[in-house]
Amino acid sequence: MLFANARKDSTMKRITCILIVLLAIPLGLDAQTVRALEPGCEIPSLAEEKSMGEAYVTRFERETPLLRNEVIEAYLRHLVSRLAETSPIKNPGQTYTILIVDAYDVQAYAYPGGFLYITSQLLRAAESEVELAGIVAHEIGHVLLHHGTCEMKRRQEMLDAFLNKFPEEERPYVNPYWVIHVIESLHNVEMQVASRIHEQEADLFSIRMLLHARYDADMYLRGFERMLDGEKNERDPEYLRSHPASDRRIETMKKEARTYASLLNIRKGDPRRAPINSEFATMKKTLENILEHPSQP
Ligand SMILES: [Zn+2]
Repeated sequence: MLFANARKDSTMKRITCILIVLLAIPLGLDAQTVRALEPGCEIPSLAEEKSMGEAYVTRFERETPLLRNEVIEAYLRHLVSRLAETSPIKNPGQTYTILIVDAYDVQAYAYPGGFLYITSQLLRAAESEVELAGIVAHEIGHVLLHHGTCEMKRRQEMLDAFLNKFPEEERPYVNPYWVIHVIESLHNVEMQVASRIHEQEADLFSIRMLLHARYDADMYLRGFERMLDGEKNERDPEYLRSHPASDRRIETMKKEARTYASLLNIRKGDPRRAPINSEFATMKKTLENILEHPSQP
């Protein structure tokens, strides 16, 4: 059965590659080595990855309202650089930009090349710096593990394979929207499986990144659990779609926090890096002020 086997093969390849990547992280391998261990997805150069992301975010920013404020953006840039400094995966030359999307969803996004977005509602929902740091770490994980890049490349491969079924002279007349619709229907299960695995990988990476930066991962998980509970009562937001079940997700991360903390010799009660509370409080106050008085600059 051509299609069933093809899907199974591709899924298995991805699972194998992800297990290898996960095993590689505790050893502190650099990003080049992690790339070489990803047989299912040939990762382009950083410059190419960045231009892939730029093409996507140019369209994204045209269609999405951003909340621009230098105080909040400077705080977020500082948070990203603190996390990147002690990252368990090093990718020399990797840069990040982080911007705020003005939206009511509790949501975060990462695109190839280090383009990160978090919503104003997520900033409101975070009650401490560590809660925000954990979510930002999850998004950085997507970038460093090239999830978006591999998903975009896989989609392009499916598109090319489908178009190749048509005689060359007919290809310019095939409606691209129809092709994308057909591909998404045919490969929906495979894409959802890949997405769930990527989410699980980014969840585990976020715990490791927090612990390397000496943040309290348990405190993050209490906040994350609260945010998940809050969202469950409404509707499944984008941030939680195509993700593992919430309870299993929290349990897996708790287990990872215990195991990885002991690997790094971090014991309960050890001095953790103090959150920069005054800066977090200033950021929150600035945000509330903007949201209450949207017309003011
Ligand atoms: Zn994610």
